[in-house]
Amino acid sequence: MGHTAAVEASVSEWDLVLRGGRVIDPESGLDAVRDVAIAAGRIAAVGTGLPPGPAEEDVSGQVVTAGFIDLHSHVNDVGGLRLQALDGVTTALELEAGVTPVAEAYRRAAEQDRPINYGFSASWALARMETVAGLPATASLSALMGRISDPAWQRTADPGQLAALLDRISADLADGALGIGVLLGYAPAARPEEYLSVADLAARAGVATFTHARDLAEMVPTTLADGAEEIVRAAGETGAHMHYCHINSTSHRHIDRVLELVGRAQAAGSRVTTEAYPYGSGMTGIGAAFLAPERLGERGLSPSSLTFAPTGERVASEARLRELRETDPGGLVIIDLLDESSPPDQALLMRSLTFPGSVVASDAMPLTWISPPADPLAWPLPPTAITHPRTAGTFCRALRLLTRDAPPGTGPAGLPQVLAKCSLEPARLLGDWVPAMRRKGRLQPGRDADVVVFDPETVTDQATYADSTRPSTGIRHVLVDGVFVVRDGGIVPDARPGRPVRAEPR
Ligand SMILES: [Zn+2]
Repeated sequence: MGHTAAVEASVSEWDLVLRGGRVIDPESGLDAVRDVAIAAGRIAAVGTGLPPGPAEEDVSGQVVTAGFIDLHSHVNDVGGLRLQALDGVTTALELEAGVTPVAEAYRRAAEQDRPINYGFSASWALARMETVAGLPATASLSALMGRISDPAWQRTADPGQLAALLDRISADLADGALGIGVLLGYAPAARPEEYLSVADLAARAGVATFTHARDLAEMVPTTLADGAEEIVRAAGETGAHMHYCHINSTSHRHIDRVLELVGRAQAAGSRVTTEAYPYGSGMTGIGAAFLAPERLGERGLSPSSLTFAPTGERVASEARLRELRETDPGGLVIIDLLDESSPPDQALLMRSLTFPGSVVASDAMPLTWISPPADPLAWPLPPTAITHPRTAGTFCRALRLLTRDAPPGTGPAGLPQVLAKCSLEPARLLGDWVPAMRRKGRLQPGRDADVVVFDPETVTDQATYADSTRPSTGIRHVLVDGVFVVRDGGIVPDARPGRPVRAEPR
């Protein structure tokens, strides 16, 4: 045999050979022209001059690497998941909000038949809606968002409610939840002691928490705890792995202070990890506590900093904001936080992404429909769908900004380092308690055949705030479990090979 290869399955078992691409595997350091053989959902061989397979795909001039793993995706519709696939994502995990009861979330996702892999954390907020507010269990993000402004779930928990809350979360962990998602910033009256109890539970279960931080002291001097210090403190006191979600958005213009704090905690041995997405605007339900008219000033915002997605309107006045919060609290709103056209703000945003170990994570949002589609599986997406551009563009935008179009003063990074932030590092972040993650995030024989093939010269985001569902371009092929979900730049409509990703309960 003339080929040199690390081989996992015999040639007769191969399904496909991706021929002659630039194979990048940040873990092994491989960055060279290689062939990649795929068999039964796994990478079968990586080498030069591999023998022909039953199917061949010429990928010369393209990068071949592990599919992207998104630790922060709220997308729960097939259309939105396809946008993510076209952005290179092969696994989209709902870890920050989470879904409780988690077994129900996995059951529904399996019934839905998703194009990419999926997984869920336990939801502190939904568990609180059950145990503190006495609302029925829903396992639904839309129910969570619909109730987001309800003070009943946000209030301080009494000891009995706290015990019930921890029991509810423990039951989810026993059912394979990937960790505990904590929307702490949405319930500012929750006690810091409660947060420590949740972190302690995570530490004992051997999983991470994924936190939307409480307000920073710079913004809300009366906050019960500084949002950043609280996360770091929980890691130090309980030994839990605390993942700090979208450090770019909740830190506003205090990103450097927060990163320094996290860096010090990491140096002291605490397990604090971070993620960021490359956009200056956020998105959430308009009923969120921190969007109350009297609180906008904390972030230097006014009603006109908000664009209400269902109508596309800039919110004209405090009265209109009150009306929208009242009538449609879960209605999604774009919030201008950092100014993407300002070089200092751009540089801040880039520092949240280039911080060592910070992973790219999208905070992708479900599609909002101006008028509901007749066919929920319609593709291409009808123009009446809207979302935040981060849903469709985060990963390709990060690739572009970090490698080709680095803003002045930020210096381009090498492609392998950027790809590590999209695949290897998120896989490692979960790998201790999620066995599937030890097989993902690497382009190596024996690993899962979740693969992305893209043109490094042209790959780019296309979605904008005005045209939020334009798919990224330059992603040539995406395979999930060895099956083409994207082929020649287009969605394969019948391909729904997504599988559940679960934790191994301790
Ligand atoms: Zn969030």
